[in-house]
Amino acid sequence: MITLQGKGVSSGIAKGRLSFIKRKSLPVEKRPIDDVELEIKRFNMARQVAADQLDTLTATMADKIGEENALLFEIHRMMLEDADYCDPIVEIIKTEKVCAEYAVNTAGSRLAKEFADMDDEYMKARSIDVYDVSKRIVEILSGGGQALGSDDDPVILAADDFTPSETAQLDRSKTLALVSRQGAVNSHTAIFARTMGIPAAIGFGAFLSNDFSGKEAMLDGETGVLYVDPEPAVITGLEAKAERTRREREALEKMRGKPTRTKSGKMMKLYANIGSVSDADAALAGDAEGVGLFRSEFLYLGRDTYPDENAQYESYRKALEKMGNRQVIIRTLDIGADKQADYFNLPKEENPAMGMRAIRICLTRPDIFKTQLRAIYRASVHGNAAIMFPMICSLDELLRAKELAKAVREDLAAKGVPFKLDVPIGIMIETPASAVVSDMLAREADFFSIGTNDLTQYTLAIDRQNNSISSFCDTHHEAILRLIAMTCDNAHRAGIWCGICGSLGADLALTKTFVEMGVDELSVEPSCILKLRSVIAAC
Ligand code: PEP
Ligand code: MG
Repeated sequence: MITLQGKGVSSGIAKGRLSFIKRKSLPVEKRPIDDVELEIKRFNMARQVAADQLDTLTATMADKIGEENALLFEIHRMMLEDADYCDPIVEIIKTEKVCAEYAVNTAGSRLAKEFADMDDEYMKARSIDVYDVSKRIVEILSGGGQALGSDDDPVILAADDFTPSETAQLDRSKTLALVSRQGAVNSHTAIFARTMGIPAAIGFGAFLSNDFSGKEAMLDGETGVLYVDPEPAVITGLEAKAERTRREREALEKMRGKPTRTKSGKMMKLYANIGSVSDADAALAGDAEGVGLFRSEFLYLGRDTYPDENAQYESYRKALEKMGNRQVIIRTLDIGADKQADYFNLPKEENPAMGMRAIRICLTRPDIFKTQLRAIYRASVHGNAAIMFPMICSLDELLRAKELAKAVREDLAAKGVPFKLDVPIGIMIETPASAVVSDMLAREADFFSIGTNDLTQYTLAIDRQNNSISSFCDTHHEAILRLIAMTCDNAHRAGIWCGICGSLGADLALTKTFVEMGVDELSVEPSCILKLRSVIAAC
């Protein structure tokens, strides 16, 4: 038996034959050309074909990998228009007088390497996207293609790395698991694998040798360990683990449809965090009692212009209709910091996390904010909506945001447009400032939802994007717990409810603490809901 340690990125146990993916090799030779203009034309035509393919992928993959994930192909499409990507290719064709395949391959590899060499883990993970787009164009130019998983039986697929396009288009019935030599934890390949429930581990390096092709193997996607020719004891151990997980899941199913209640009988709400309309299906499948955080900014990302009022209205309406009478809390625009959209033309900042983001943009550019509020109010007649403002730091900000909401209501009423008057307006508590003045804010808000991801970042002065300092990030730090307790007390004193929608809400080590603090609602990833309900029942 050979044991290889990788990084587990999608949990689950898989047992089967290892099969290294067969890509039809694309000979990218340095073919000299005479007609430069003709070659640039070939490149542009291939770009157009690639754009059409990516449009189809965006439209057809939403069901399989989720609407938000499918937007990646829209980003790939935008790369086809990006001068940083295209200009060096044209330059190589012109100066070296070589074929487009070679120019795309050379310039694409250079750009992919630039990304791979970056410190930031997110940017590093984008290297595979550049490679994916270049591979697509080269394949179009050379009339080639790839055959993934051409085996008849289901196998554990192995490769240097999988591109997002490959992963999204995998035949689930033939794919037991994915293992790769390279890859990044934050890559879309990893995200897609999790969404599709395919166990996966990455980063095995050269240890994942082609010599293992055809051998029996077992993968534990949680620990990231791959066993080649597994010993009987390992097989028994992992099969027992898979069985335990299956039984645990079965036991959790008993919590489905039950109310969320503590041992002492206190009722709590278990809501889901979503980023798109299609995520509402996952929320329902996970048995969410509502949506505690609809990250509406995803409607603004991956595009080159502002989504108009009607497009937004349609998204909110669909989400509300899907959730029926369950509450859907729509967080207003939280763009800026790590979520950038070029067309906002935000200033380049030294510290974007502390810069022009979220409610600050909305208060500075009320036209954008009012368009969103109008869309939410119009959609409100289709379900049980609530509005939530992000990144509030002061009472003044809350009052100004509420004033704009009032102006929108007045305008809709004057025009005779139907909307619900009593849509609750809550705020996120994401800054130490808002937690400290939560007594004042509670008098003007209908509810609080604590965003522990940002609250942790701002309280501990730990950039949430910077992996290199994650060892300093004590998410259970007493300062954070005190701020949560203080916020909760102040909410209750003012007679409003207080929830948590940051990642800490799903931290089972803190569930009892939150129950004791009197937290009323937890909004988490849909897959955490049944487990949390069973833990709360024992608190
Ligand atoms: C948070 O900050 O905890 C939160 C839920 O918002 P986001 O992660 O989208 O910033
Ligand atoms: Mg936040």
